[in-house]
Amino acid sequence: MDIDKLISGFGRFKKTKFKKYQNKFLDLVKNGQHPRVLFIACSDSRVNPALITDAQPGELFIIRNIGNMIPPYAPDNDYHATAAGIEYAVSVLAVSDIIVCGHSHCGAIGGAYKIPKSKKLIHVKKWLELAQEAKDFVTLNSPAEMELSKRLELTEKVSVLFQLNRLLTYPEVKRKVANGTLFLRGWYYRLESGELEYYNDEKKQFMAMQEP
Ligand SMILES: [Zn+2]
Repeated sequence: MDIDKLISGFGRFKKTKFKKYQNKFLDLVKNGQHPRVLFIACSDSRVNPALITDAQPGELFIIRNIGNMIPPYAPDNDYHATAAGIEYAVSVLAVSDIIVCGHSHCGAIGGAYKIPKSKKLIHVKKWLELAQEAKDFVTLNSPAEMELSKRLELTEKVSVLFQLNRLLTYPEVKRKVANGTLFLRGWYYRLESGELEYYNDEKKQFMAMQEP
């Protein structure tokens, strides 16, 4: 049973890992969290931000949603989970970096090419509109004979750039980027090989991540 597996996993966590991190958690409770990075990733169960960056508790403020998308700034009266997370990270936690991390074999990007029709997926269908610009860009700018797997990978990467661009519709993000107190970064994680790429703004392409 999956739930039993989770509960016995909790038992192991409590006995071993929690003990290892206990002082850290006590410190984080006493002094509050001060993560420097907002990490925006896909909800996909195969993408695990803390695992791939070996980040410790307190280091990453994480937003996960389907397709690591950024909805446009829309200060209306609706419930905007992703926008609220961005606002909190930028204006309260004052993170210095926002990473939008796409990944290979992303179902959301696949979904942009095959929009769900089911009435049970009305929110998913609406949400996938956020990948539309990337899909249209790739369709317009790549050869028609391009293999589907290559097309999807390109769309996954181009989508990261469109999402980063949409972050700039948030006034505080725009202001802090302009005055050099906030940096936006596009990453791409390959599930099958564990490789990580980053978008190099000067070279205008994704490149293998260099360890410092
Ligand atoms: Zn995904």
